[in-house]
Amino acid sequence: MENLLYYVDSTIQEFSAQVLHIGNDGRDYVVLSNTAFYPTGGGQPHDTGWLDDVEVNDVEKVDGEIRHYINGQLSLGEVTGKLNWQRRFDHMQQHTGQHILTAAFVELFDYATTSFHLGAGLVSIDIDTEEISQEQLQQAEARANEIILENRPIETKWVTKNELEQYNLRKDVAVDEDIRLVIIPDYDYNGCGGTHPTSTGQVSMLKIMSTEKMKKQIRVYFVCGVRVLQELAMRKAVLTDVARQLSVPEEQSAIALKKIMDSAKVTDRNLAEAQEALLQYEAQELLADAQQHVVAAQFENRPIQTLQKLGRCITQQDAEVIALLVASNDDKLQFVAARGQNVTVSMKNLAAATLSIVNGKGGGSDALAQGGGEKLVTTSELLEYMVKTLGQ
Ligand SMILES: [Zn+2]
Repeated sequence: MENLLYYVDSTIQEFSAQVLHIGNDGRDYVVLSNTAFYPTGGGQPHDTGWLDDVEVNDVEKVDGEIRHYINGQLSLGEVTGKLNWQRRFDHMQQHTGQHILTAAFVELFDYATTSFHLGAGLVSIDIDTEEISQEQLQQAEARANEIILENRPIETKWVTKNELEQYNLRKDVAVDEDIRLVIIPDYDYNGCGGTHPTSTGQVSMLKIMSTEKMKKQIRVYFVCGVRVLQELAMRKAVLTDVARQLSVPEEQSAIALKKIMDSAKVTDRNLAEAQEALLQYEAQELLADAQQHVVAAQFENRPIQTLQKLGRCITQQDAEVIALLVASNDDKLQFVAARGQNVTVSMKNLAAATLSIVNGKGGGSDALAQGGGEKLVTTSELLEYMVKTLGQ
């Protein structure tokens, strides 16, 4: 274990080692005489960094050896290893924050953590309860930050299976030998193979961001240390922008936004009513030009939904009439066929015949049908075809 420098001293950022073996398992890797590079494990992602000036982009434990996957060439002999310390320290902050938060949920509410995910963004734990209140979340967060602020030491101890009984462990240890305990005195005793700072104060702070209901558990998303500042910076930028656009102080943004949303709803309703009135008026005009109880009209860029509404307005105003409305929309020809209450001709059948002209798709009822297809004919030609088909 003395070769695993991350266990000897988790603060080592730079070290000397011998390259013992150079291999390729699909990717080039080296095995070292000793290393501070932490391999993926126990929920903590691997370190990255450099061996001399060659980049280490992944570290995994395979067949009992630690493989440092490299981008470049190394030869056997002495190298200097250097960790991407920002990445490692961030992982230590998140990982240790997880210990502290998990212990807070156990201490306060006896909720166990069943899984832990540490990725690039928010960190999450699943806790074994179906319900959790905002107040409970606040209490757990406050307790975790209290432990952080007290700057308690974080100790690690190698123990045997028998020695384990002396400790009040949070959960059973999965391994039988080389058992490593991570201890925050009078707070948390836990078997863990990850890396931790030497005191809780280095976690800096912990903030719960959100929760998500899982099947029988609650997923709690949180961030620690430097990620709290990153999240705060992102939210600050967004909120500042929102407040600037609303021309209000940041703390009044939500109220100002609600006013705008309420006003937009009223505007939308008024606009819909005005459009409806306009369609009624347009329907009247088209009815005035109807020939033999058929309204035939063509349009440019008119959504099919508007044509449907117009068709309904026309046939509601005159129960004896048929409305045939065709529009050229982008690369499509679209049409609506609607009939008044006293008409018996099927609009569905008319639509089916019309669709064959434009290689289109559509459907509807005997009273109102619509469809659209390719521009194989002009709008006028399609309209003429519909009128003619109706007369047959
Ligand atoms: Zn740990």
